[in-house]
Amino acid sequence: MTTNRTFTMIKPDAVESGNIGNIIQAITDAGFKIVAMKYTKLSTQEAKDFYAVHAERPFYLELVDYMTSGPIVAAILEKENAVADFRKLIGSTDPAEAEEGTIRKLYAESKAKNAVHGSDSDENARIEGDFHFQPDHCFA
Ligand code: ATP
Ligand code: MG
Repeated sequence: MTTNRTFTMIKPDAVESGNIGNIIQAITDAGFKIVAMKYTKLSTQEAKDFYAVHAERPFYLELVDYMTSGPIVAAILEKENAVADFRKLIGSTDPAEAEEGTIRKLYAESKAKNAVHGSDSDENARIEGDFHFQPDHCFA
């Protein structure tokens, strides 16, 4: 299993606020290589499936509504220690608690509309990457 990859989405709020470019720049400046990338919009079923682990959480339907409210950028990223380093780069779920200079501190609106997704484990990075990309659309 590849353990040097993570999966990210630039979420609808950050697309809407015009921060796709700033966020991709921050990601590449931090040393991540783009393995795959696309501009797309999640269907309700795709968002429900993607966030199925949160199905029992009170914010699940709000989260699905939000993630389908506009287009997103999905990407697979590669770097040594990718999952942990990317979570560090994006900062805490709630931008109010995120460290200075993190992507969420800079660009997120709120705990719900928090600009970016980052996988929380190597296993989920692989599952989430496979959810969005065929192997022949990945360029290592
Ligand atoms: P992500 O998985 O998107 O990288 P995360 O791992 O920091 O974020 P999770 O606990 O996995 O946070 O929550 C998934 C997403 O659900 C959050 O990024 C946010 O958009 C939304 N969310 C989390 N907690 C809340 C909440 N209390 N109210 C509303 N939305 C929430
Ligand atoms: Mg998460």
